[in-house]
Amino acid sequence: MARIDPLNDGGEFQSPALERLVRSLGRLPGLGRKSATRIALHLVAENGGAAELTEAVDEARRLVRNCSRCGAITETDPCRICTSQRRDPSQLCIVSSPIDVLPFEKGGFFQGRYFVLGGLLSPLDGVRAQDLPFARLQARIEQDGVTEVIIALDASVEGETTALFIQRLLEDRSLNLSRLATGIPVGGALAYTDEVTLQRAFQFRRPF
Ligand SMILES: [Zn+2]
Repeated sequence: MARIDPLNDGGEFQSPALERLVRSLGRLPGLGRKSATRIALHLVAENGGAAELTEAVDEARRLVRNCSRCGAITETDPCRICTSQRRDPSQLCIVSSPIDVLPFEKGGFFQGRYFVLGGLLSPLDGVRAQDLPFARLQARIEQDGVTEVIIALDASVEGETTALFIQRLLEDRSLNLSRLATGIPVGGALAYTDEVTLQRAFQFRRPF
């Protein structure tokens, strides 16, 4: 006889409140019903940290925003990178997601500023050029007197498509345009690349 898995075979607790908590947790990225149930039971137990978690979520929702100039995660707008006098405004590094800024900052080898696209072109998923802030990118390049643009996107089909689109978009400007050299694993996400690999890819970035 097959064993019944109470969490995956439709079993429900005798508490609609707990079921609601499990369902909301289960909608979080990377959490299935099993993990959601384990976390829910932990949270409702005494000293489970629920109050601290609720407070942390509230505070983060209140304070966290995207920098209106570069799109990085920040609590002050513009962010510290955009306002720092020590950063070189003529160098602009284009990344797809706010988390891609982190390995660069941890490595400490890039002293320019960033522009976060907030996504990658993906015709199959319906992400088209008008869905990404390319107009704001062009304005930023003009306002800041950018002379060097470094394209630092994931080594995926979407990353390549987007990089080529940016190259065509900017080719009429007299810019030093480069992209990260090989070293980023094919199919790999930039944010999870180790600093050494990223630094090498950055140092040996190649012109289009
Ligand atoms: Zn910023």
